[in-house]
Amino acid sequence: MIVDWASKFNWDEVDTVLLDMDGTLLDLHFDSHFWMHHLPQRYSDKHGIPADQVIADLQQRLAARQGTLDWYCTDFWSRELDIDVVDLKREVKHLINERPQCLDFLRALGDRGKKRILITNAHRDSVDIKFAVTGIQPLLDEVISSHDYGCPKEDQRFWQQLQQNLPFDPARTLFIDDSEPVLRSAQVYGIAHLLAIETPDSQQAPKICFGIPAIQNFSQILNLPNQTEEKTSQQISEKTSAKAKIKGRENG
Ligand SMILES: [Mg+2]
Repeated sequence: MIVDWASKFNWDEVDTVLLDMDGTLLDLHFDSHFWMHHLPQRYSDKHGIPADQVIADLQQRLAARQGTLDWYCTDFWSRELDIDVVDLKREVKHLINERPQCLDFLRALGDRGKKRILITNAHRDSVDIKFAVTGIQPLLDEVISSHDYGCPKEDQRFWQQLQQNLPFDPARTLFIDDSEPVLRSAQVYGIAHLLAIETPDSQQAPKICFGIPAIQNFSQILNLPNQTEEKTSQQISEKTSAKAKIKGRENG
């Protein structure tokens, strides 16, 4: 069920909006496809190892690094796998896409005078690829990669450094992210307003609610110009899927 909070969410209590990138502003489908299909296939081609064996091995290696900066680091995985991860990402960059209403949401925040700060665990190399093929960069006031601080958003030291670097009032800040450990970390630090994303990957089922309020669409918290055209989540997913297929054909 889609909850309409647009008339209830009190924007007068918020002057800074911290925004995650992958799975929040952008569709997580690109990252899922890259790590579960494209990278294993290319590694398999290079080393002559069956792709299913590569996937199993990679999942183990990823699990061992989960929650650390290495997990998000293109330099680390390029070294670890002896393959140029950034080059491989560029090969499938046509799959990178904004989530529905992302650009309208960022514009509307700007129109209301809210400070829009991207805080991502993605490496700057990955951020650059995504900025090159989406329209989000001009609609952001600040861009912070946790690699700048040497620790991920899951770590309290990230928030301490963010506070020193870009003074903001946690009591007047909204943070939107699709990761439970990251949202919990922000909660511990004292960010007052937290929202999760129900469907970070347009090709996957919605995530199970983990006790933090979640939204399917940005129009649930802010009236957006095109929200009268809002479709059900299934229709949005189908639309996104069709767009990805068309782009795939154009590039393939
Ligand atoms: Mg994310």
